[in-house]
Amino acid sequence: MNANQMKIGDIEVAILHEGESDLIAANLALRYPGVTPAQIDAALAGQQPSGSLNLPYINSGGTHIIADVGFGAAGRPSAGGAETALESLSLSPADIDIVYLTHFHGDHIAGLADAAGLLAFPNASYITTQAEWDEWIGRWSVSDAPGDQKTLELFTSLQDRFSFASPDDEIAPGVTVVDLAGHTQGHSGLLIESGGERLLHVVDLLHQPFQFANTDWHFSFDSDPELAVETRRRVLQQCADEDILTLFYHMPFPGLGKVTVEDETLVWNPIA
Ligand SMILES: [Zn+2]
Repeated sequence: MNANQMKIGDIEVAILHEGESDLIAANLALRYPGVTPAQIDAALAGQQPSGSLNLPYINSGGTHIIADVGFGAAGRPSAGGAETALESLSLSPADIDIVYLTHFHGDHIAGLADAAGLLAFPNASYITTQAEWDEWIGRWSVSDAPGDQKTLELFTSLQDRFSFASPDDEIAPGVTVVDLAGHTQGHSGLLIESGGERLLHVVDLLHQPFQFANTDWHFSFDSDPELAVETRRRVLQQCADEDILTLFYHMPFPGLGKVTVEDETLVWNPIA
């Protein structure tokens, strides 16, 4: 199964399996600077690292939303599954009204273009935070790296379709932007809330299951590592305190579960 469907009150949600990322799951000693390979092995405790790409599709009152787009068909051989997953819901990329971008890392945005370089979600408008746009577009415009230029061109060509949301803004009824700054300056998640039910998408708050017990381990792609630790601890504690259904972009598919505290340690309890 490549799409995990549920209802949050009146809002339809499906988690789409876009694929697996070796960027996240391989070379863990490089990904966690300051942590020794022995510490990582002990923390893995025989489990495989996770590199899943879990994209939430949200239908709020007929507005079709997807949060992030993965690597896409032109990205990595192990990714590009969003279209197939949408098909299993009798939807196509052309049905998507809003693409919400939580942050501008390649595993979240590369799928904006399809294999032919055309818009993968041709009828969508795009929403992100102003901080995220400013951090990356400003940086890309002064960079001469070819890959960055290509992405800059794509974003520049899409500029008219972008609008910016701030934390606590509703992008559709029951779908609210949540501040998760630290992984990137404008990193944000979504709170889906309807009929007394809630789902909190915390995206890249962490990248491996062993980070629940090691919230202070820096991840190499965290642009502000100290703020990332502070945000990780604050939001994970909130998830546990409020017993809220939580979604992570990179936990093993579908990336859904609950956070609890056992013996003063945060624990991930996945839900199939
Ligand atoms: Zn990511």
